[in-house]
Amino acid sequence: MAIPLEPIADSPAGDDRASIVCLHCGQSQPVARKALSIVCRFCHKSLRLEDMPIKDYQARRSVETCGVVTVEKKGQIVADRVLCGGMVVRGKVKGTVKSAGPILVGPDAEIKGDVTAPSLAVGAGAILEGRYRIGYPNQPISNAS
Ligand SMILES: [Zn+2]
Repeated sequence: MAIPLEPIADSPAGDDRASIVCLHCGQSQPVARKALSIVCRFCHKSLRLEDMPIKDYQARRSVETCGVVTVEKKGQIVADRVLCGGMVVRGKVKGTVKSAGPILVGPDAEIKGDVTAPSLAVGAGAILEGRYRIGYPNQPISNAS
């Protein structure tokens, strides 16, 4: 009698695999969960996969990761553009934000800039200033304007 094998997860995102959406071409693809960066198999651009915690003031030309950008209470991003797999904002963001995943905005947070995301949750008291385009999943986010 055969020994039962370990159950295999039904979802494509098993233990060591995750699925990401390319920030540049919008194609989803599996990646190893431990990978910190990959080259997109469709558009051949390199992608960071790490989550990015922002705990202080950071001025950059751009912030790009397929991971989740978390802006802590004392954190602040000033960037031309933020491309991310998801975002949690408790502090301040200034710049154009394009997220492949949900954006959560805390009650004391502030976002100044245009925001594109498949979904948005905002705490009462947050300050949002800009154009919002919410609810269009699976579009390429870096070229959409
Ligand atoms: Zn791509």
